[in-house]
Amino acid sequence: MAEIWNTQPTVDRLLSEAKSGAERLVQAGLIPKLTVVRVGNHPASRVYVQKKVQMCQDLGFGSDHLQFEESISESELLATIIGLNNDKTVHGILVQLPLPDHVNAEKILNAIDPDKDVDGFHPVNVGRLSIGQDGLFPCTPMGVMELIRDAEPQLSGKHAVIVGRSNIVGKPMAQLLLQANCTVSILHSRTQNPQQLARQADIVVAAVGRPGLIDADWLKPGALVADVGINELTDADQVARFTAPDSKKRSAFERNGRVLYGDVNFDSAMQVAGKVTPVPGGVGPLTIAHLMVNCIRAAERSRHE
Ligand code: NDP
Repeated sequence: MAEIWNTQPTVDRLLSEAKSGAERLVQAGLIPKLTVVRVGNHPASRVYVQKKVQMCQDLGFGSDHLQFEESISESELLATIIGLNNDKTVHGILVQLPLPDHVNAEKILNAIDPDKDVDGFHPVNVGRLSIGQDGLFPCTPMGVMELIRDAEPQLSGKHAVIVGRSNIVGKPMAQLLLQANCTVSILHSRTQNPQQLARQADIVVAAVGRPGLIDADWLKPGALVADVGINELTDADQVARFTAPDSKKRSAFERNGRVLYGDVNFDSAMQVAGKVTPVPGGVGPLTIAHLMVNCIRAAERSRHE
């Protein structure tokens, strides 16, 4: 039986690194600042933004939240980004997605100064990551990488399987594990015999967006399993398939008509794996903690320009 992979110690370490980094910078006369840009009134994104802004304040550095109407034009938004690029008091810029359909999100994200790109999505940072240069890299894979390093200091030669090849999770995760000298396999929707490949892995990172896809059949005994997926289950049959009748998740579903579930079939994976991260409360907090680290890195980098 696996142990639940507690991400909190890694989260706490990252937050404490960000806090001491902020203190050092403030003592040197530089107040790190994150500016979050949000368009429209997507309720989930409002909660995310509030959390990020609050966390900056808790760690002792500055944050701003620029809120725009859904009707803002692409050119107005671009002008805002360019203004923030030129503002020396702003060190990190984060555009909260989704953006409205009439705005080309790629154009907006690519306009962010790569050295202020705390999400790490800019092509310059993607390139820096792929050739092993210093830069700002995506927060979810960076946070998961810290978690993996804390659990397994000897990564060299380990086989890591990543399920999913998105630009924001799967691909950067693969680059980071490769840099740590893992042998990396990336599985995707066209992969043949994915279970057979995944069963060879010492480390599995699931970033698919398919609830409960990865079960015991995908896992080698003792594997470390990081579940990035966040899926909202609203279907009673699906909930019945993945959760035990007397479980907390089942009662949460019965109360709210919805429950969050990962890409890993948790109860099944726990029969075989070494450690499995829970959803929610596993990878999510690592992502936001690494965003704070990226803000401090961006502020530190600005001193050397
Ligand atoms: P995407 O939808 O961009 O990518 C999903 C990937 O999964 C694709 O590469 C797709 O393959 C692959 N895939 C789909 N079905 C299968 C299958 N049956 N077998 C193998 N691979 C498959 O998702 P994201 O990477 O953006 O997000 C993945 C999950 O992680 C989502 O649930 C998302 O909500 C969550 N997430 C959580 C974060 C956190 O902080 N915890 C942060 C970011 C995301 P193909 O390329 O062939 O289509």
